[in-house]
Amino acid sequence: MADSDSTRTEVDRRVAPADAFGAIANETRLAILRALWEAPERPVSFSELRASVGMRDSAQFNYHLRQLTDHFVRKTDEGYSLRAAGKGVVRALVVGTFTEDPRRDPFPVGSDCVHCGEPLHAHYADESLTVDCTACERVHSRHPFPPGGLFGRDDDALLDAYERWVRGQYALVAAGICPVCGSELRTELVTDTDRFSEDGTASACRFPEYDTVVLATCDRCIRRVGATVGMRLLSASAVAEFYRDHGLDLATIPYWELPWAVSDRHTTVLNDDGGTTDPWRVCVTIPLDDEVLRVTLDRDFDIVSTDRLGQEPV
Ligand SMILES: [Zn+2]
Ligand SMILES: [Zn+2]
Repeated sequence: MADSDSTRTEVDRRVAPADAFGAIANETRLAILRALWEAPERPVSFSELRASVGMRDSAQFNYHLRQLTDHFVRKTDEGYSLRAAGKGVVRALVVGTFTEDPRRDPFPVGSDCVHCGEPLHAHYADESLTVDCTACERVHSRHPFPPGGLFGRDDDALLDAYERWVRGQYALVAAGICPVCGSELRTELVTDTDRFSEDGTASACRFPEYDTVVLATCDRCIRRVGATVGMRLLSASAVAEFYRDHGLDLATIPYWELPWAVSDRHTTVLNDDGGTTDPWRVCVTIPLDDEVLRVTLDRDFDIVSTDRLGQEPV
């Protein structure tokens, strides 16, 4: 059976991480991967590949190439092409994760702070973009964003791309999918911010000043995302519908302008003693014009009800 053969091949091709990193820790081998990536047609013959890397010594070139097959490079009778792991290495080089450390100095965002009303600013450093208020020092958004996303974009275009990127990531997180590796996320409500800091996760929490944070953890790639409950509602259809009924397109409003998304003052935890009492509920109230949408979520952060109220409940 072809299936069982290919399954066995997949298993055989796995290598220890240290061996995998060792295999690519060499300029010639990276050049081989890059040449395969840039080749107009694949597979590429041995002689063509050697010519594009520019190495005269055939035996030495063959040695380096052998270190890359089968994990990073696939060898067939027609020549050589990239496997998914090889593409991953080149992609990381292209997006700049390994090689670049670009920065963008603070620039005005064009939105005001939801806390104090002063203008927000954004800057980029350490592969993350931050939107914050210099007046009250509240962070409205801080997330990793690939360095490649800066190239060819002015400040406005960068901000727009970043905002859409983060929304996409949160849509995955809200669906329980790790945006990095695709594994299932473990989600918990953290209402004790001290505990959150003590256990070393304060840096994962983008809003350390908040009392109520949803912490989504990927046990596979050790990624943690901490955010308000409201951030999970950015992709909720009931909320989009509420905005549409008020003549607004939620997808076009930068989320740092939404107080219910970037603060927890619209969030109420009901019957909560650290998340162990069953059942507990979380309510997020979203005011718009003269109406309020109250969204109630269960302990799995699934929406269990939405109510429209004439005015903000006391
Ligand atoms: Zn402020
Ligand atoms: Zn993951």
